[in-house]
Amino acid sequence: MNGVTDKIHTAQEQIAELEQQSGRPRGSVTLLAVSKRQPVAKIREAAAAGLRDFGENYLQEAIEKQQQLEDLPKLIWHFIGPIQSNKTRGISENFDWVHSVDRSKIARRLSEQRPPHLKPLNVCIQINLSGEDTKSGTTTAQVADLCALTDSLENIRLRGFMAIPAPTDDTDVQRENFRALSRLFDALKSKHPSMDTLSMGMSNDYGPAILQGSTMIRLGTALFGPRPA
Ligand SMILES: *Cc1c(COP(=O)(O)O)cnc(C)c1O
Repeated sequence: MNGVTDKIHTAQEQIAELEQQSGRPRGSVTLLAVSKRQPVAKIREAAAAGLRDFGENYLQEAIEKQQQLEDLPKLIWHFIGPIQSNKTRGISENFDWVHSVDRSKIARRLSEQRPPHLKPLNVCIQINLSGEDTKSGTTTAQVADLCALTDSLENIRLRGFMAIPAPTDDTDVQRENFRALSRLFDALKSKHPSMDTLSMGMSNDYGPAILQGSTMIRLGTALFGPRPA
């Protein structure tokens, strides 16, 4: 059968092999299960198979799922979708991580609105590698300033970068994009020691992403199958 559990095991075997190929210890890449638009039954199956990290793109949908899953041992929730400023409060109250911070206003609001009884919110800055206006993410020209600002905020912990390179089946292009991100990450990490996370690689390109230094891959369809409309 090809259920969620089997798909998770297949992905985990692939990840282990890629870690070895890139000369990194086993377990250096975190598997983040992207459960957006998928039913809670599939999240339960993934949690039963041992996954703890789940990614969601829509605040309301995520909160409803979290409520339905309250009986499970604590899961780690990552917000990975575009952020409107009227959603920052709900995100800061209901998530452990945010991967899609791309401007200072959002970073400031997330820090101000993080409830004091919770640990600092883990934040990755989303990078728009190609600099296209239409895509979310900060440009490489602005990333140093945004890192400095984010790192100075009290209730946030700057963990690294996230990127979604333009989709392509050309593995050379995939590799070049990931390599450029990896270089940028290394450069900023030397100034911000809390940076330990490079969130890059999705179902169709996680191989080259891991080989270029990804520490967290975000898999949706590879684990859960096609998303319901
Ligand atoms: C939907 C989504 C994913 C997962 O995409 P798949 O191709 O299904 O693996 C990963 N990252 C982000 C930011 C997403 O929005």
